[in-house]
Amino acid sequence: MGAYQQPDVVPYIARWTSEVCPPAVVVANGRGIAYTREIPYDRDDDGVLWKRIAWSPGKGRPVFGQVHFLRQRRAMRRMLCQVCGGPADRNEEGALWLVGQDAGDRKTWGTALTTAHPPVCVPCAVTSVRACPHLRKRYTALRVGLVTVAGVQGELYRPGSLFPRPYDAGGVAFDDWRVRWVLAAQLIVELRHFTVVDLDGLGAECAARTT
Ligand SMILES: [Zn+2]
Repeated sequence: MGAYQQPDVVPYIARWTSEVCPPAVVVANGRGIAYTREIPYDRDDDGVLWKRIAWSPGKGRPVFGQVHFLRQRRAMRRMLCQVCGGPADRNEEGALWLVGQDAGDRKTWGTALTTAHPPVCVPCAVTSVRACPHLRKRYTALRVGLVTVAGVQGELYRPGSLFPRPYDAGGVAFDDWRVRWVLAAQLIVELRHFTVVDLDGLGAECAARTT
């Protein structure tokens, strides 16, 4: 799961070297995992426990390919562009998304796709693909009519002891009992009612808007 890599643009959701994860003790509280001393920011609106991380974008060096958990979540919840952090593009067909190879073959998509990549705005979508020609092959642009939060990706803890340890990593849906036993690091959304968009067409749209 990576932020788009461009030499001159640091994606909004990229982690910076100053943004370290402070040590935190994870315990079992009977219903799931908890921190010994929780603060309100530790859980999201669905009560899921999140990994702690400092918030200091711009300090130190960007770590391309590593996602800042809370900016990723913020971008998903508020529909912000994952590259610039501004509002993601939206028209009557829906919000704009670049879907990577992790979504699998287009022929096998069916009616719903899940992704941990937040949406994008038109200029960032166009610049991303222009900056990196191979992205054109790896990414498909979509207009998405319906976006719903589906679950989280993170470390799974095994119930059964007071100090549980992580045993696996992966995605867990909000309606899965294991969501109480996951230390979340990314928000996953489900995309429905989507249509494939021509990236060249987007480029023309972008040029028309900026002239
Ligand atoms: Zn953008």
